[in-house]
Amino acid sequence: MKQSTHRHIAILGSTGSIGTQALDVIRANPDHFTVEVLTAGSNADLLRAQALEFKPNAVVIGNEAKYAELKDVLFEEGIKVYCGADALCDVVEMEEIDIVLTALVGFAGLRPTMRAIEAGKHIALANKETLVVAGELVTAAAREKGVNIYPVDSEHSAIFQCLTGEFHNPVEKIYLTASGGPFRGKTKEEVYHARPEDALKHPNWEMGAKITIDSASMMNKGLEVIEAKWLFGLKSEQIDVIVHPQSIIHSIVQFQDGSMKAQMGLPDMKLPIQYALAYPQRLPSDFPRFDFRNFASLTFEQPDYEAFKNLSLAFEAMHRGGNAPCILNAANEIVVRAFLDKELPFGKMPEVIEDAMNSVAFIAKPTLEQYFETDEATRTYVRNKIKAAPEPAKP
Ligand code: NAD
Ligand code: MG
Repeated sequence: MKQSTHRHIAILGSTGSIGTQALDVIRANPDHFTVEVLTAGSNADLLRAQALEFKPNAVVIGNEAKYAELKDVLFEEGIKVYCGADALCDVVEMEEIDIVLTALVGFAGLRPTMRAIEAGKHIALANKETLVVAGELVTAAAREKGVNIYPVDSEHSAIFQCLTGEFHNPVEKIYLTASGGPFRGKTKEEVYHARPEDALKHPNWEMGAKITIDSASMMNKGLEVIEAKWLFGLKSEQIDVIVHPQSIIHSIVQFQDGSMKAQMGLPDMKLPIQYALAYPQRLPSDFPRFDFRNFASLTFEQPDYEAFKNLSLAFEAMHRGGNAPCILNAANEIVVRAFLDKELPFGKMPEVIEDAMNSVAFIAKPTLEQYFETDEATRTYVRNKIKAAPEPAKP
């Protein structure tokens, strides 16, 4: 990255929860950031409004049917307009870009992230699924290209902030904190028929639908465990999860002398987004400040691995290695969609994921193309399973 503090940014997924908050950060810091590229899946209206405000070099809309809605009005402003999945990969190579914020959801993030790394762009990584699926290949490519991966996920940003200035001190252990989501304290039976509208009510964070369901099912924390392994080069046994319902301590690092460092603050994704985009600088902000009078106690509990089996499945996938986390991720993406569409009960999701992990062919050292094949094979397997044994959610 250029030594100057001015960064030229591409946002993949600018219309989502992380994308719009990143634009809030950029809007508040025009001297530090320039938007070069904005992309969205299918929200053409918001993408158009963002483009007219931030005047990027180019925009990409994933859904090709929406191209016509954008092109004339943005061409007039001198903004290039592209569409489709290939354009998403091509656009990250643009010379002007210093850093690519990956804020799109799911496996779809893998290819553009790899292309950005190969083009020598630094990555501000929100799209955790990329590292879950292909952490070994992605981190190896980043090392080879001298590219930094700055975590945006609040827990990983916390670890990164605790490690700043400590990079030569080995880590003994990290504790990822979890809010526990809307179903914390409930039994497996109580959550079995939970409705999408209840699972979508996260107590502390406003996020996109997929990650909100992942938080309710604890899969989000499982994905974050695998994400942490690759980001910080840790062994499985060095990563632990602790439930902290107030979401004030965002994660903890324990060093070899037993000392623990934690990063804390109100739950607000703008802070980790800004830290990732401006690193190593801490830019001033007017984000709401933590007030001790509002939090008389910060509490901690063990996660319930029985009620939330997804967490155990993610640890299991990490131990197996190879394409096992890719299978876990693809199966999860399909069951979350099915749950949201009321085709699958909440409590059935881990069963289907476990079945996929035991059924889709294991590959110990997959190539990038084999990850794509595994993803596709898993999706087909899981869709067929759901169709063959329908167990719709209770109304
Ligand atoms: P979201 O659903 O709110 O937004 C997703 C964005 O990606 C949208 O702009 C959408 O148009 C675009 N998109 C989705 N699928 C696409 C595809 N196939 N091709 C191109 N564009 C596509 O999601 P979000 O909550 O902002 O989450 C984004 C990522 O950040 C996820 O990987 C999530 O796990 C991670 N993350 C989110 C939060 C949060 O607070 N929202 C916190 C930590 C990590
Ligand atoms: Mg997180």
